[in-house]
Amino acid sequence: MSILTRHLALVSESEQVGAGDVMKVAAALQKQAIRDLAPIWGISATVDAFERLEDVPTGYWPLIIKDDIEEAGAEGIHMDKDGQPFALITARNDLNAWSLTASHESCEMLVDPFGNRLVAGDSPAQGQARVEFLVEVCDPSEAADFAYRVNNILVSDFYTPHYFDPVKGAGVRYSFTGAIKGPRQVLKGGYLSWHDPVSDHWFQLTFFSGSKARVRDIGKLDARASSFRAQVDRLTEQERMRVAGPKAAQAKLQASAAAREGEDSAVVEAERLRSQIAQILGSSKAPSDTGGRKPRAGRPTSPPADDDDQSSSTPEKYPIER
Ligand SMILES: [Zn+2]
Repeated sequence: MSILTRHLALVSESEQVGAGDVMKVAAALQKQAIRDLAPIWGISATVDAFERLEDVPTGYWPLIIKDDIEEAGAEGIHMDKDGQPFALITARNDLNAWSLTASHESCEMLVDPFGNRLVAGDSPAQGQARVEFLVEVCDPSEAADFAYRVNNILVSDFYTPHYFDPVKGAGVRYSFTGAIKGPRQVLKGGYLSWHDPVSDHWFQLTFFSGSKARVRDIGKLDARASSFRAQVDRLTEQERMRVAGPKAAQAKLQASAAAREGEDSAVVEAERLRSQIAQILGSSKAPSDTGGRKPRAGRPTSPPADDDDQSSSTPEKYPIER
């Protein structure tokens, strides 16, 4: 089967988020997309980091990390004037405080770029029969409590196509982490949105407070105004911030010893590799002593290193024999 690959670009427009963090999170999102999401949803995707919005190649859908978008209620996926998706993510100092949102938007954009994908199924509401669910793979288990880590970076759980199965089966995977245990289940902090063709109203099963989920009628929506996703997300903005926003993500990570151990292991590995490289280069001196360039063993230290540069940048030319 050959399919079109979807390309996402992660970019920071915030002073708080440096290129190093953008690259680390992009690598985690890329691994999540290829290893976890792609086989389950039958998509093909890349996620790459770019330094500036101006560097993003044509045809890539940008995920932009920005300051002051939380207050405006602008976090989430939007459409540009050509109808192409882009996402806004609230900037925070700590990358784990924004990676969960970035992962949520990345997974949902890859499965349903335009925010209007509907799938038919049995309604979870009494008195309703067949309805059309909006395919938002992260919403029902979006809370930080159900997140998992890729390269030790917090990413969102997402549901599988079995989420819309008519009946519950044994050994069926309903979400990637297994947190969702049956079709159309909404976990604490999550929600699910659908359209009832009979009343022409939209409904949501939300679990933002109390001890169980409840259904609310959110009235009529018009896809010509903006995507269904943009319209339903606007209604849940405040509640979502509480469960999957930066504070919740940070709390989740701080509570986890594994996260700290993971950080340590990356640092230890880097140190080990550096000392091995120093051994290969045959010197125990600190790199700063020679400006990072060391003469190779067995070669005279003069003439100066310029000579090296020349021989490697202009390869020798051979005459053509006749
Ligand atoms: Zn969502």
